[in-house]
Amino acid sequence: MLASKGVIFSCDALQCILACPTGALDHKIEKPEQVLMGLAELTHPDTCLAIKNMGFKGHPRGENYQGLLRYSEVDRWKPQLMREHPVDREICDICQLLCPIKGAISMEQKTKGDGSSYWTPVVHSNCTGCGVCEMVCPVEEAAIQIIPWKKWQDSNGKDGQEGGHVG
Ligand code: SF4
Ligand code: SF4
Repeated sequence: MLASKGVIFSCDALQCILACPTGALDHKIEKPEQVLMGLAELTHPDTCLAIKNMGFKGHPRGENYQGLLRYSEVDRWKPQLMREHPVDREICDICQLLCPIKGAISMEQKTKGDGSSYWTPVVHSNCTGCGVCEMVCPVEEAAIQIIPWKKWQDSNGKDGQEGGHVG
């Protein structure tokens, strides 16, 4: 659902605090890393391109996708149309490449039971659940998805998360 919509993710100026009608967000929040919305999880490792040793070239959500994303190397303050920023990755790592939270997700090489190796995205404890990785994942449906309100301490050790494994 989330990935099919054109939206703006992970504002880094925290204007949401001023706009929030319920006061659920407050001024104790000073950094994007403190806004915990959920947790990314590799819900469909079977479709993850990295695990299949596959890359991706082109527009992750298609040429007509309306979604906006901040590319800080282009303009920190002005979200850009994702379709204007195609990618070319030998092994897919787009979720890590575009994650706005430093260290929230990494690509790690792992070994299967038969000795063959593969790359997999691994989510770490500072993931905020912002949704960028789900939006930019190029497969249908997204291999990595946000579990709303899920907390890190309830998930550690699952596939695609720190300490997790596939195959
Ligand atoms: S892009 Fe994904 S991994 Fe990175 S913080 Fe957002 S939800 Fe977590
Ligand atoms: S963007 Fe999607 S397909 Fe690519 S490595 Fe991340 S989860 Fe896998």
